[in-house]
Amino acid sequence: MLDADFFRRWMAVTAASVDREAEQLTELDSAIGDADHGSNLQRGFRAVAAALEKEEPATPGAVLTLAGRQLISTVGGASGPLYGTLLRRTGKALGEAAEVSVAQLAAALGSGVEGVKQLGGAVVGDKTMIDALEPAVAALEGGFAAARAAAEQGAEATTPLQARKGRASYLGERSIGHQDPGATSSALLIAALEAAAS
Ligand code: ADP
Ligand code: MG
Ligand code: MG
Repeated sequence: MLDADFFRRWMAVTAASVDREAEQLTELDSAIGDADHGSNLQRGFRAVAAALEKEEPATPGAVLTLAGRQLISTVGGASGPLYGTLLRRTGKALGEAAEVSVAQLAAALGSGVEGVKQLGGAVVGDKTMIDALEPAVAALEGGFAAARAAAEQGAEATTPLQARKGRASYLGERSIGHQDPGATSSALLIAALEAAAS
């Protein structure tokens, strides 16, 4: 079972991965966007880590809703409201339970991904974070390693696609041949589950 400590570690590991990969994420975004994805998420997840230390939310749901609120209020770009919605919706779906199973997390993340799709209008194949998140959620019942592999594969599979949502879509065919920054950061978020569990 996964308790609030696990969810706090998940967010802390994500913040550390985003710090480590910020330059790489911004470089991906400079190819098909406006070169701010790394700095956007760095600002957001640093705020998440700081808020979690200060407020010490007691349940898995409360950890994720606080994290989502922080992302929405600190990240200016498109990714802030999208990731914020993902975590808030997931947190809300987890309710007030003190511990949740991996299957419950998979179901809750599924509703979080639905929220992102409603807000942004993207489906798998549009070259966005959904390309990593949706297959990861589908794989999650098979464990964290399976989810990480699915997310990484989904992110890599965005390279040959033409973007149909977000700034990269303005480039039309010139978006082809570059991995999507948001799908890449989503793979970091999913990979952090495995690290938080070990
Ligand atoms: P901005 O594009 O506002 O500068 P970021 O650079 O932080 O924001 O985030 C860009 C990422 O957000 C993209 O790589 C993509 O994965 C994701 N994204 C953008 N628009 C959408 C959307 N409508 N639905 C899902 N994801 C999106
Ligand atoms: Mg950007
Ligand atoms: Mg921007």
